[in-house]
Amino acid sequence: MDMAEKVEILAASARYDASCASSGSSRRSKGGLGASSPSGVCHSFTGDGRCVSLLKLLYSNSCRKDCAYCANRASADIARTSFTVEELVKLTIGFYRRNYIEGLFLSSGIFSDPDIVMGRLIEVARVLRERERFGGYIHLKAIPGCGEALLRKAGLYADRLSANIELPTASSLALLAPQKSGQEILGAMRFMGQAEAESKEDRRRRLRAPAFAPAGQSTQLVIGASPDDDRTIIRLAGALYGRMGLRRVYYSAFIPVSSDPRLPILRSPPLIREHRLYQADWLMRFYGFKPDEILDEGESNLSADLDPKSAWALRHPDFFPVDIDKADYFQLLRVPGLGVTGAGRIITTRRAGRIAPEDLPKMGIVMKRARYFLSSGGRPLDATDQDGIARSLVATSAKPGPSPHAAPAPHADQALPQLEFAFP
Ligand code: SF4
Repeated sequence: MDMAEKVEILAASARYDASCASSGSSRRSKGGLGASSPSGVCHSFTGDGRCVSLLKLLYSNSCRKDCAYCANRASADIARTSFTVEELVKLTIGFYRRNYIEGLFLSSGIFSDPDIVMGRLIEVARVLRERERFGGYIHLKAIPGCGEALLRKAGLYADRLSANIELPTASSLALLAPQKSGQEILGAMRFMGQAEAESKEDRRRRLRAPAFAPAGQSTQLVIGASPDDDRTIIRLAGALYGRMGLRRVYYSAFIPVSSDPRLPILRSPPLIREHRLYQADWLMRFYGFKPDEILDEGESNLSADLDPKSAWALRHPDFFPVDIDKADYFQLLRVPGLGVTGAGRIITTRRAGRIAPEDLPKMGIVMKRARYFLSSGGRPLDATDQDGIARSLVATSAKPGPSPHAAPAPHADQALPQLEFAFP
């Protein structure tokens, strides 16, 4: 098989992995080749919304495991192939020199013992860094079940590591990916989190410690392959941020790739649901929302019609309006339509004196939604009643496609136990 065919097969096999954004690293190579950007500019997206800015490949698409939702599972009837270390090094350097890419995202099917698979990925990164003096971005997949010494070594060459948890509950893993172990995946995350924290602490104390995966670790959750609701997914993501120190959780709408009877029948990938989960994730990471605040008790799924912040605001009318001259930063961040930039500008500007409502648009604040939730001098900026606000928010939200919850999984009524992972 020639290289072009290998690239075609192994790039196609990697396209379902969404955990590949490259923000957060500032590696530079003195006198070497390339540098990863601290501003995370090396992203671009395919028509189906997935990141392709990095050279995104599998080392091998052969896999011993048979995860029901995966295009590369052992039972799939697809062409199989693998790169060699040298082939991948040559490809990466060649593409980088031509300015096609700014880095490498390398994952693999589990074609052998986890130590062997992880060892190959590390060897690609080692040769790139040590022999080719490659300073671009490298994201390596951490292979659950490999030894901790290998994970530590991977973190010395990679900017980012990711172990994909894929499904949000142990019961869903047992159903759809029974050869995977949630505890093994979480164990790898825990170890990488500790290694990153130790490395940061050593460097803070000015010890000559090498950086461990300076862009941190990420993971991916497949959305809609299992019957798990958004509440479960949001709570897991919150725990991964809070307890495992993950930098990013990526959500990937399930694309049916097989007719396995354990999988739901979907009319289309649940892209609106994926989008709402990204919005909820944003609220947790930047707006001070706790996981259990995003959905009220008794609610299982995010609204397809409203973004989660607007939905929260409608459920909490007592919180509003917030006064543009008195509200603190985090109160302002609860206002639909007001982001970190707008809230920051209000806080900064009012140090010089009161803000008149008509000044807000001049400060770059879009009032279309925010006006319903702000007041000035004790008077609301807009007196529309609650029903009118709800109608306006729905009308100004992105129009949803087919409802993500319209086609229930065939197993949705089987009352699967919603076991949450026991975090190590
Ligand atoms: S381990 Fe599962 S998800 Fe990963 S490549 Fe193999 S079959 Fe796919």
